[in-house]
Amino acid sequence: MITPEKPELAEIISVEQETVDTKTFAVKYLDQKRQRDFFFIPGKFMMLSVFGFGEIPLSISSSPYKTDSMQFTVVNVGNVTNALHSLKKGDKIGLRGPFGNGFPMQRFRKKNILFVSGGCGFAPLRSAIYAVQAKKSMFGRVSILFGCKHPKNLLFGKDMEQWNREGFQVLSTVDQPDEKWQGNAGVVTGLFGKMTVPVENTVALLCGPPIMIHFALIELRKLGFKDKQMYASLERMMQCGVGYCSHCNIGNKYTCIDGPIFNAADLKELPVKED
Ligand SMILES: Cc1cc2nc3c(=O)[nH]c(=O)nc-3n(C[C@H](O)[C@H](O)[C@H](O)COP(=O)(O)OP(=O)(O)OC[C@H]3O[C@@H](n4cnc5c(N)ncnc54)[C@H](O)[C@@H]3O)c2cc1C
Repeated sequence: MITPEKPELAEIISVEQETVDTKTFAVKYLDQKRQRDFFFIPGKFMMLSVFGFGEIPLSISSSPYKTDSMQFTVVNVGNVTNALHSLKKGDKIGLRGPFGNGFPMQRFRKKNILFVSGGCGFAPLRSAIYAVQAKKSMFGRVSILFGCKHPKNLLFGKDMEQWNREGFQVLSTVDQPDEKWQGNAGVVTGLFGKMTVPVENTVALLCGPPIMIHFALIELRKLGFKDKQMYASLERMMQCGVGYCSHCNIGNKYTCIDGPIFNAADLKELPVKED
């Protein structure tokens, strides 16, 4: 029986260096049946333990239709992420989950989709983009906008090329261009003028730093997006992932069980500046 409080053993099957500070880990449960039965909705997260260091929430960045393993794309920011970055293929970790609500992908069918991501916020959105890519005929037009600090922080280059080939609009921008960078410069909201999806019949999925989400919602509203068309994935410090510990509460909601995906209309009711 699966108990949500108890980590299950999993093995790292590959490690890919994405950028200077970011790696993607593919992992699978040691229990083959558990892995076979595993499924998740894009936007859900797992609690991943690095034994001897601690446990952290991480979004699943792989396709929900790829069931033989799952991937996490992780920025090295502190104690546990640093320990995770030192692990290699074959090392064991613990997993609890999947937790959280995930994006309501069924509701997005027949709609155009705008993805707006900043930094490692691209991780859960990649999973949602894979879901759309796998059932392309069920969705309308797709625009993928990604912003990061510096060209050296650009994520998922191969995926971006593939999505472009598949007819999705794919645009990146960097806050601090270097001398070699010939693309867009500035924050991700600066790309809104170039997006090809219309406002009508479009849903916007956002994930990134709080400041990005705050201003992206403001700018999308100016363009005519209604709150019910916009969904944001929030990050809050959390320990249990299942609504016991109270670390991730925002007003009367818990990010771990009521989120991490919130509709913009719901965000307005919460005691935060829409972040
Ligand atoms: C639902 C959810 C999904 C996430 N998905 C991803 C993901 O896909 N990829 C990824 O790289 N990270 C993700 N994160 C963030 C990740 O959990 C933190 O980076 C991690 O917990 C940091 O742990 P640490 O021990 O390495 O850092 P620490 O040593 O604990 O802290 C390093 C610094 O990061 C800050 N910090 C720690 N945790 C958080 C947090 N949860 N939110 C904001 N600031 C924090 C600390 O205050 C400190 O300044 C997610 C967080 C949540 C809540």
